Amino acid sequence: MNHNLYVALRAAFPADLDQTAIETADGPDAPLHYRWADLEQASARMANLLDSLDLPAGSRIAVQVEKSVEALMLYLAVLRAGHVFLPLNTAYQASEIEYFIGNAEPAVLVCATRHFGWASRLAFRAGTGHVFTLNDDRTGTLLERAALHADHHTPAQRNADDLAAILYTSGTTGRSKGAMLSHGNLLSNAQTLKTHWGWRSPAEGGDVLIHVLPIFHVHGLFVASHGALLSGSKMIWFSKFDPRAVLARLPEASVFMGVPTLYVRLLAEAGLNKEACRHMRLFISGSAPLLLETFADWQDRTGHTILERYGMSETVMLTSNPYRSQGPDGGPRKGGTVGPALPGVSLRVQDDDGQPLPTGEIGAIQVRGPNVFAGYWRMPEKTREEFTADGWFKTGDVGRVDADGYVTIVGRSKDLIITGGYNVYPAEVEGYLNDMAGVAESAVIGAPHPDFGEGVVAVVVAKPGAALDSAALVTELKTRIANFKVPKHLFLVADLPRNTMGKVQKNLLREQHKGLFERG
Ligand code: AMP
Repeated sequence: MNHNLYVALRAAFPADLDQTAIETADGPDAPLHYRWADLEQASARMANLLDSLDLPAGSRIAVQVEKSVEALMLYLAVLRAGHVFLPLNTAYQASEIEYFIGNAEPAVLVCATRHFGWASRLAFRAGTGHVFTLNDDRTGTLLERAALHADHHTPAQRNADDLAAILYTSGTTGRSKGAMLSHGNLLSNAQTLKTHWGWRSPAEGGDVLIHVLPIFHVHGLFVASHGALLSGSKMIWFSKFDPRAVLARLPEASVFMGVPTLYVRLLAEAGLNKEACRHMRLFISGSAPLLLETFADWQDRTGHTILERYGMSETVMLTSNPYRSQGPDGGPRKGGTVGPALPGVSLRVQDDDGQPLPTGEIGAIQVRGPNVFAGYWRMPEKTREEFTADGWFKTGDVGRVDADGYVTIVGRSKDLIITGGYNVYPAEVEGYLNDMAGVAESAVIGAPHPDFGEGVVAVVVAKPGAALDSAALVTELKTRIANFKVPKHLFLVADLPRNTMGKVQKNLLREQHKGLFERG
């Protein structure tokens, strides 16, 4: 049997391949209608192009491009060709890309034409043999070269534990780690979600998903795209989130997935009401905590109860509030919780000594299941550290489980900041700040933000005699790291608060700055 994920996705396409699979809602020449046949044929051409390069099986194909349907086709092509898809956040700057290329040693890099100069220099220096371009207007050398190849392709034979993708997640030490996900990890999770969320097959009338999330991240690439592909459902495809434009398409849709920030922004639209949601079946939220206020406001305005779920790059989805109110996996959707562990996923909460905690007590969340990744790319030691001796993955999240099995996330042991659904690891930003001229040390924290969930805040101490300018530090930082990681406020202080062990007391800083982004 071929366990190539593409085989399972392809088997779910509707019988009539001339139906629209994806309709673009914005971007150049919208609306464009891509048929299921187009997904099949265009990804075949790209897979044949990859085959023609004679790469060893399991080569990494690094991709930093704007969101487009062609970028999704490229993902499918990489699966078909039996290589490993390595998506990179479009906000990453050259110094960050250099690290990923050095660490992953991709055989191929695909980037936007406007980045070709610096990106190809970095790639060729690191030994990457091929650099193609792909833009969001259907131009670039990737498509030009793929057009020369046949539009049919037999998927490479893959085992369930062969790698399908590497997703880089930032590390607390400041260095990103590549989470290695196999064909089996991704397919098992997609199948579980298909059943659990009641995705409707074409025979059942099909679903229509509004796809607004980036496709370099687990949420948009795996949870959203796999859900629609594996159920043969149409996608209304947005390259960026614009609340008004999304609202205009809501009446045609049945499923929407977003990070909490998107729900907050939709709520600010006067037109959001029950009528606009008349064909909606399911609103799903994740990647960051959904405020109870948003959960309740959404119910009032739309009559729908948002289903909150929890997962991460290393594991895809772990828990979900129920879709159905009755039945074996049924029950209420409880606001403020991320629901029980998904079928097939085991979840436990432990104390610092590795002892299981009773119901309701807060501790470290650990998980096991067919969805849990194989480890971090070329970091065996880090991988060993993140798994317990009996094989459970330490999520780094802290939470509790109630008597009904519902999980509540209370914090992140690793001080991760989540701003607008994106993760920012303070240690990484601190590393950049501390390298700047005149900076003695720094601490980066998240402060509650009404739109983004959290906003990044930096507190910086100058070296003796150095005259620092906070605006200049921020400007310099913007040239080095993705904009979402750049502090929205940067304070110059004389000292950082420390405990007797010499550790910076970030809890005091968080307390001090908690009102910084209050509305108004
Ligand atoms: P990522 O690997 O980028 O998907 O980030 C994973 C992290 O996001 C998790 O470890 C959690 O800390 C956080 N996260 C994801 N979903 C939720 C949620 N529904 N509520 C709270 N935190 C979440």
